Formats: sequence, C-alpha cells, structure tokens
Amino acid sequence: MKHIKILSLILAVVMVAAMLGACSGKTTEKEVLTMGTNAAFPPYEFVDENNKVAGIDAEIAAAVAEKLGMELEIKDMAFDSLITAVSSGSIDVVLAGMTVTPEREESVNFSDSYATGIQVVIVKEDSPIATIDDLADKKIGVQTGTTGDIYCAGDYGEDAVARYDNGALAVAALQNGQVDCVVIDNEPAKAFVAANEGLKILDTEYITENYAAAIAKDNTELLEKFNKALAELKAEGKLDEIIAKYIKAE
Ligand code: GLN
Repeated sequence: MKHIKILSLILAVVMVAAMLGACSGKTTEKEVLTMGTNAAFPPYEFVDENNKVAGIDAEIAAAVAEKLGMELEIKDMAFDSLITAVSSGSIDVVLAGMTVTPEREESVNFSDSYATGIQVVIVKEDSPIATIDDLADKKIGVQTGTTGDIYCAGDYGEDAVARYDNGALAVAALQNGQVDCVVIDNEPAKAFVAANEGLKILDTEYITENYAAAIAKDNTELLEKFNKALAELKAEGKLDEIIAKYIKAE
C-alpha cells in the first residue's frame, strides 16, 4: 500500500514536471508572422545574392515582427494571388508595395500607409511617346493585377494592355519590341532602367498612390498591433532609415 502511494506520488510529480516542461517549451517558441510578397519589385522586395527575400518591405516586416515578439517568415508568390492568400488566412500580412485601392479594401483591411508610389511610364530612349497622352493606341506592358494594369485597362481598354507576371518580364517585352511602353511604380522603374540599356522614364507621372500592408478583414487584432508597431518605427526614425538604405535621395 505504502509503495503504491509513493509510486503514484512519484508519477504525479513526473507528470507535472512533464507538463511544465511542455508549456515552457511552447513559450520560448515564437509565434510566426507570415508575410506574403512578390519578390520581383526592387527595391521593395527582391531575391538577394543569398537567395533570401530582401528589400524595404522585408525589413519593415522584420522590424514589426521583432516588436511583436514574433518570428517572420516570408512567402514569395504571384502578385495577383496575394489578396486571396491573406483573406483566406494562408498568410498573415501582405507587404508588396501594394497600393491602397477602394476595390482591394472590399476584400482586406489596409494598415496605415508607410510609403508612396507613383505610376510612371518606361519607354525606349528613342520612343515617340513623350507624354501620357501619347499612350492612346499604344501597346502597354503591365504586371498582372497591379494598379498599372487596372488603370491602363480602364483608361485605354483591355486590348491596349499586355499582362506579364512581373515587372522584369514586362520590361523584357519592351526591350524586344512586343510592347511600346511599360506602366509601373517609380522605384522598380528606376531599378529596371538602371539594369537595362536604352530605356528611360517619362517625366510625366501617371498617378500617385499609397502603399500599405494588407491584413484579413477578420484579423483586426493583428491590424491594431501592426499599426502600433509601424507608428513606433516611424517615431523612432527606423522607417526612414530602412527606406533611405534602399532609396537614395536625388
Ligand atoms: N503598387 C502596385 C499595386 O499595388 C504594384 C505593386 C507590385 O507590383 N508589387 O498594384
């Protein structure tokens, strides 16, 4: 009898210890923040020489995750699948130089804005296209599902746009004469023009937009936390520091 009592006591102690161990094991394991992006949009996101997604968005997300005590994981996917991925919960947040638009706001919530983008027009150096007005009757290369795509299809018609999976492919199409111009955000435009001979950006700007993080409608908890962390990063000057690392003042 005595032995059984001692044995069950030992058993109880062992069980409690095991439970405590399991619990403490869990608390040291950080919660994961999964960010979705399309890593072909320099300097906001690109695949670096170590095969890692780098850039402004990746660094902002890392800084936010650190403030939330979370571990950042980045998933590289097609730009036009990001909204569905975040609203279905397969990723927690989108940071992809994504413009806030009323249509997207029907599917997701946007954080406070962290940067502005401008839709610009890339042409060949010897192109007859000089202003936005010259785009009528021209073939316009765009990235599928981006605001450049949406605005150009709206302004010039579906037949005017040629859609590509990413900006680099649209620029390649411009190089080999399949399209007359490419409409894309200004910072990637600068990066593509710098990396390719014989291209220039028109002086006239198509439209200015706000970039923000997209979060699922029902995840207001993360939205609040994200905005709080973002506000802190802004106040600390950390956001400006990240942007200045990738975008040199002109
Ligand atoms: N800012 C544009 C948009 O939101 C393009 C973003 C991108 O291609 N990553 O549609």
